[in-house]
Amino acid sequence: MKERIIAAAKSYGADLVGFAPAERFAPDHKIFDIFPETKTVIGLGFRVLRGCYRGIEEGSTYYQYTTMGVETLEETIMPGAALQVSLLLEEEGYLGIPQRRHQTIMEDENSTNPEVAYALVYRRKTAEPQFDFIEAAVACGLGEKSFHGALLTQEFGPMVRCCFVLTDAELEADPVREPMLCDRCGKCAEACPGHAIDNNGHLDSWQCAVYYNGANGTRNPFMPPDAFSDFPDRLEIIAGEARLTPEKARKILDQIHFYPPAMHSYQCSICGRACDVACYIHLEEKGVLSKKFKTPFRKRTPWAFPLESFQTE
Ligand code: SF4
Ligand code: SF4
Repeated sequence: MKERIIAAAKSYGADLVGFAPAERFAPDHKIFDIFPETKTVIGLGFRVLRGCYRGIEEGSTYYQYTTMGVETLEETIMPGAALQVSLLLEEEGYLGIPQRRHQTIMEDENSTNPEVAYALVYRRKTAEPQFDFIEAAVACGLGEKSFHGALLTQEFGPMVRCCFVLTDAELEADPVREPMLCDRCGKCAEACPGHAIDNNGHLDSWQCAVYYNGANGTRNPFMPPDAFSDFPDRLEIIAGEARLTPEKARKILDQIHFYPPAMHSYQCSICGRACDVACYIHLEEKGVLSKKFKTPFRKRTPWAFPLESFQTE
């Protein structure tokens, strides 16, 4: 049955499939709140098309990453594959419980999800148990957790998203991968246009949300020269140097109307996940990724607008 599950997942767009026995999760883990009889967690990994990052790398087209690299994967491809795997399990007399990330539910009252509008995020601990997808992906053998908290896979580096199926079928486990990709070089943190990742790799989700949405004008072709005119530290914000409280982050986000959001509440990424792209380039240069391309991702010196172009006096 394992082979048939892998084939079904791949035929619906999964690139990676891994199986973790329930014993790899603590007895009080949230997967057992969702389905106490869980015997196996099936992890499905989906590459984010490398071409989706191209337009932001060049500063030309921005909609493609969010619509195809985030929205279509999260809303169509990933649920479709998880559904097919679950249907196959039901045909065999087992339960399959698909688990995709609920993008607008956060358990932590004080954080946000940069990929969706902050005002639409539902912050209540009791909303719905959601487990840590990166931890589960590592347990399923899909990859390792990086310095900046992303999933790194040997095939696609950080250019990957994942979802899961919980089942009461006992299926042969895959090994957990030995961490060997992240060398803690810090390039992911350096590349962030808003310094949202600190020296310990911790991500400030509000700082990230502001700069994911494009508050750094030197990396945003859509920002008008007089942006954030009622903020006394507007040039610091535009340079990515301002440290932001959640309250101030909300005020800035309310003024970012430079680019239309996608559907399903997805905000358009203007940073283009520069942290992940820098990591990908680093891993590609080291030759440790198994999926090879004919040409390197980075072809030109990264572009930036001068901060002076936002000076209004
Ligand atoms: S850029 Fe990649 S390899 Fe380097 S520290 Fe960040 S996650 Fe690790
Ligand atoms: S590069 Fe973008 S996604 Fe990554 S931490 Fe910075 S703002 Fe967030």
